[in-house]
Order: sequence, then structure tokens, then C-alpha cells
Amino acid sequence: MAAPSRPAIPGPLCPSPRLLLGPGPSDVHPRVLAAMGMPLLGHLDPEFVALMDETQELLRYVFQTENRLTLAVSGTGSAGMEAVVVNLIEPGDPMLVCINGVFGARMADVAGRAGADVQVIERPYGEVFDPDEVEAAIQRVRPKVVGIVHAETSTGAWQPLEDIAQIAHKHGALIAIDTVTSLGGVPVHIDEWDIDAVYSGTQKCLSCPPALAPVSFGPRAIDRISQRTTKVQSWYLDMTMIKNYWGSDRVYHHTAPITMNYALREGLALIVEEGLEARWTRHALNAKALKAGLAAMGVGVWTAEGHQLPQLTCARIPDGIDDLTVRKRLLQDWGIEVGGGLGSLKGRAWRIGLMGHGSRQANVTLLLAALETCLRDLGHRFEPGAALGAAAEVYAGSSKSVLA
Ligand SMILES: *Cc1c(COP(=O)(O)O)cnc(C)c1O
Repeated sequence: MAAPSRPAIPGPLCPSPRLLLGPGPSDVHPRVLAAMGMPLLGHLDPEFVALMDETQELLRYVFQTENRLTLAVSGTGSAGMEAVVVNLIEPGDPMLVCINGVFGARMADVAGRAGADVQVIERPYGEVFDPDEVEAAIQRVRPKVVGIVHAETSTGAWQPLEDIAQIAHKHGALIAIDTVTSLGGVPVHIDEWDIDAVYSGTQKCLSCPPALAPVSFGPRAIDRISQRTTKVQSWYLDMTMIKNYWGSDRVYHHTAPITMNYALREGLALIVEEGLEARWTRHALNAKALKAGLAAMGVGVWTAEGHQLPQLTCARIPDGIDDLTVRKRLLQDWGIEVGGGLGSLKGRAWRIGLMGHGSRQANVTLLLAALETCLRDLGHRFEPGAALGAAAEVYAGSSKSVLA
């Protein structure tokens, strides 16, 4: 058999400039990109070990936790999900998963593959769970772990968690939460809310590329892991081994993705520099301006009022407007990426992300101007300039608290 012949010589890689205003990945901060161009250190080099310690300290701040076992798992947000589930679950353990979108459904799938006896409760896309229905399900299922998504990126729904964590504990269950999209965009208080296990991802509101998954395990979760009678089903994600590399022993487990850890360190440093409160306020303000601009063009939001995430707006495509026509044009003419709807919202929603470094007035203004042009060209009628005017009004009044 002939060996494959030499392909045409590829030129240097040169991706087109893009503004990533979809559900992720989001735009990476230039300081993070610069950090990724730094020369590698060895994964056991004292300087890299110091960087790991520093990163853990920064992660504890961003998660608002004292948990010792707080670190970044190698892999994207889904690896974080899997890490939390496979470490807490032993085959046959009942687990209750709350599903109101794609990521809750993914958690149930992961739990099933880990051997859990998975029971689910469901809510339509765009809605959140209330504590009473979760309590009723816990009483029925008697789960060892309750899994729930804080920020459901497929629908823009923002799930309140404090009461649900208390209820889980009252009935002897652990609570594990998905903060892939919430961390760095809206308040996350792991200790104050008494959350047992949490995972996130670097590519949403942390302004880094996809590839690491910050996780944190509290005392109840650590007890559960230490009482396991079976090995963790995944070798790669086994916290009992990973913690020995991140802890004082520094035992080799797998080679840390050095460059990505540089990126995360820098992304977290930027959060400390800005301050969590200021960052949450910035996300809230830009979302408020975006929604005011959309409303002025007759574009509503799918997600239930009062539970809309600031970093992900699930916009209602007006009747008669073709989803793909608009998204193609945004990409071709302005280099702007927004996401489409998933599941029942396919073709009916645009998912607009204003995440991390991407949550800026200039981006809101550019997107509204681009959308206005597209929609008017497609025959959608509204007052010209209304969208930018409405957004500008929000920014002009922004000295008032937007979180209230
Ligand atoms: C993006 C996302 C994930 C998965 O993260 P990946 O980086 O795509 O693996 C999980 N949960 C939520 C809520 C997300 O938004």
C-alpha cells in the first residue's frame, strides 16, 4: 500500500478575528493570551509548584471557600462534571439530578455511566426549580447526591441554591453544583451556601481558553470519598490520586497542562485585580443594556423573569426572522459569533454571551448595531437607532446600583 503523499505545505496559522459573544468559548483576555506564550516550566519545577499553590489560593477566593481540596482538573468543564460525579458516586448509589436544560441532562448521563441509580426531576427550558419540589423528590429518592446546575447555559436560567443545599443536608444528601457559566460572572459562595462539591470551566466567565476545570470539595464530600469501598471509576479523574500531586507530596499523576495553568493563573489574577463585586456588577450592567437594546427592537427573552443570567441572554427570535440568516451575517460581516437555540429552542433563540472579558460596553454596542442592521434588512420594523439609544440610557444611569 502506498504511504500517504506529502500534503501541500500549510502556511502559518492565521484565524480570522472574531468577537465571541456566544455560550462559550468566550473572548480571552490579552494578558491571558500573553501568559500562554511564556516558555514551559517542568511540571515538578519549584516555580511551577509555586504557581499551582498560587492558583489554588486564587481559586479559593473566586469560589469563596476555605476548602483545601480546590484545584484545576485537566480537561474542559465536562471533565469537571465527570470528576465531581465519579468521585462522589459508587455503583448503585441513588443520585437525584435536576434537569432544566442540556447541562442537567448531561450530568444525569455522566452519573448513569458512573453506575449511579439516577433519578431526575425536570423543568421546562427557561425555568428554575423551587425548593419544595426538590425536597419532595429527595424524600422520594433518598439520594446520596443531589446534582443541579447553577447557570444553565442552554436556556439562560439562573438557579437559586441556598435553600436547596440546606434541604439536601437535612435529608442526609450531598449537593454538587455546576458553576461552569456562573463562576466569575455572578455571585458564587461555596462556603456560605454550604455546597459540598462544585466544578467549573475556564472558557466561560474566567476569560481563558477551554481546557481546565476548577473543582472544589468540602468536608462532607471528602468524608464520602474516604469512605468509598470501590475505586473511583476513572483513573484520570481520581481525586485521591490527583490531590497528592496538588498537595505537599507532589506525586506524579499525569503531566499538568503547563500552558493552560499559566492561562488560568492569569485569568484569576485579573479577577482579583478587578474584585469579585465589581466584576458581578459589570456583568449585570452590560446585560441590562443588552436587554434594553433588544427590547427596543422587539426582541424579548425566553428565560423566566427574575431568573435571567446576566452573562447569557437567551433572546427570542422575532416571528418571520430566520435564525441562520442572521447568525451567518453577523459572523461574515462583523466577525461576531452568537449561539443558536438548543433542543426545543432550536431556530427560536439566540444565545448571547457577555462573559468575562467579553462583557463590555463596546461589545454590547457593536452587537446591537449589527443586529439592528440585519433585522431591518430582513424587514423587521422598529424605530431606527432605538436599540443603541436604549442601551446608552442604561449606561448613562449606571451610577445607580444595577444589582438591586
Ligand atoms: C459549557 C458548560 C459545560 C461543559 O463545559 P465544556 O467546557 O464544554 O466541557 C457544563 N455545564 C455548563 C453549565 C456549561 O455552560
